[in-house]
Amino acid sequence: MDNYLLNDSAQAAVLLEQIKVQSLAYLQNLSNRPTTADVQVETTDQLNSEGVGTANALQQFNDRFEKIMVASSGPRYWGFVTGGTTPAAIAGDWLATVYDQNTQTANGQGDISAIIEKETIQLLLNLLNLPADFLGGFVTGATMSNFTCLGVARQWVGKVLNKDFAKEGVSPADINIFSATPHSSSVKALSMLGIGSSSYTRVKTLESNREAIDMDDLQNKINELNGKPFILISSAGTVNTVDFDDFNTIVQLKNKYNFFWHIDAAFGGFAACSPKYKYLVDGWQYADSITIDCHKWLNVPYENGCWLIKEKHKLLQVETFQNSNAPYLGDPLEHFSYLNFLPENSRRLKALPVWFSLIAYGKNGYKDIVENCIGMAKQFGNFIQQQKALELLAPVRLNTVCFTLNGQEEQSRVQTLLENINASGRIFMTATVYKGRIAIRAAFVNWRTSISDIDIAIEVVEEELQKMYS
Ligand SMILES: *Cc1c(COP(=O)(O)O)cnc(C)c1O
Repeated sequence: MDNYLLNDSAQAAVLLEQIKVQSLAYLQNLSNRPTTADVQVETTDQLNSEGVGTANALQQFNDRFEKIMVASSGPRYWGFVTGGTTPAAIAGDWLATVYDQNTQTANGQGDISAIIEKETIQLLLNLLNLPADFLGGFVTGATMSNFTCLGVARQWVGKVLNKDFAKEGVSPADINIFSATPHSSSVKALSMLGIGSSSYTRVKTLESNREAIDMDDLQNKINELNGKPFILISSAGTVNTVDFDDFNTIVQLKNKYNFFWHIDAAFGGFAACSPKYKYLVDGWQYADSITIDCHKWLNVPYENGCWLIKEKHKLLQVETFQNSNAPYLGDPLEHFSYLNFLPENSRRLKALPVWFSLIAYGKNGYKDIVENCIGMAKQFGNFIQQQKALELLAPVRLNTVCFTLNGQEEQSRVQTLLENINASGRIFMTATVYKGRIAIRAAFVNWRTSISDIDIAIEVVEEELQKMYS
């Protein structure tokens, strides 16, 4: 055996201690670590032949990369929708690596990790007040969850038309899809599923600054289909303004028309954790499928998302994802195995960090995280609203603040303002376009964010505005 490998194995206690100390130093200093970095780094394309061992590899990592790692898991990284990691989630993720299970089969003599996964899904359904008639599983994120759910939706349309798209290939003209404000990843999923990214029909959004479906327009579009089946992609939380479609009205449509209803609830679904905000997802339990992102508001490490699909669609799901030419994997309906229910065959035990964090903090812990983030978003939104130079582009409905510089003539300076704010290294936000206007958005999903972080952000924004207008 290789000497370095032998030596590392013998030195495991020392190495892991070193990693622990470094990890703690990172976590304890997270609030002071810059949220942006100068990313000038020289990379190499030469692999040494002898190796150097883990201690030297760590040294090299620290010398070259560690210093420019930004505090994206910290309390003031508000770009995209970036969650942090709870201590319990780190524990679970660490152990998932150590135990290194390949999570596939929940029965027979294989490993039991899929049993943990199934239990975790039950706990998650519990947290979100969803009924137990959903099957669920973990994938890398909401993109792959949307892909999985829409893969089943595609097969469902085929079934209605007496076609097996999974087996025979897709005829996009047969697949009618409606959506008002789909996340880019759903559109990407349509591309990957062979349906085509331009093969969906945009439903109008409600007037007066909304991103939610205009139900009258949806009704008209349904009428035009003359009874043909369709897929509805709806939103529980759009990324710019966290708007929610009217699920109770969709439930009424569901009683009248034949369609597959998917909800992208990547982060907005966590409104269900709060008695105050759970009305936003009222009715979502009747959806055919739901996407939840765990590396966002659940605060577990990347890569972690899950799909929830009604168990009654199990056969359609297996038809889409089965490994049909691998007899050694068994009959997919008799022997439950995740590899016949989702895109990946081999997966790490993604459920474990989720399991740890759910068990550790329970319903109340997550209610606190969610309500705290909403509170922080509202505080920051109030500040934005009070600035003459700024315009809040939508009310802070949940956990995202979307704003821009006041006045159409200032549009060309929005990007500069954002770059200057981010260059401070003290907060990080991302650019967007909302209703045709260049804007800035801040999303709050990190459990660490507190009022002192809002104070720091206010200071930075005030400073940059002053520089811009002095
Ligand atoms: C983040 C997000 C996605 C994509 O999720 P990934 O985890 O990046 O794959 C999809 N939909 C919504 C609403 C999101 O916020």
